[in-house]
Amino acid sequence: MSISIATDRCIGAALCALTAPEVFTQDDDGVSRLLPDGPQRARSSPVREAARACPVQAITVSED
Ligand code: SF4
Repeated sequence: MSISIATDRCIGAALCALTAPEVFTQDDDGVSRLLPDGPQRARSSPVREAARACPVQAITVSED
């Protein structure tokens, strides 16, 4: 599974970090970031739900 975040589109709504906190975090400006081992944890977390929850569709999830 690969996960990408369009950080230029992110508005810092934090829904991704709230929905899948084992995968996403936010930097000091509130922009979403992947945790270092986030992609490895993605299969057992609600990553797709987090992507759907993003109000600006900044998260893309695809199977490798
Ligand atoms: S839910 Fe979307 S807009 Fe909100 S922090 Fe995550 S990527 Fe950014």
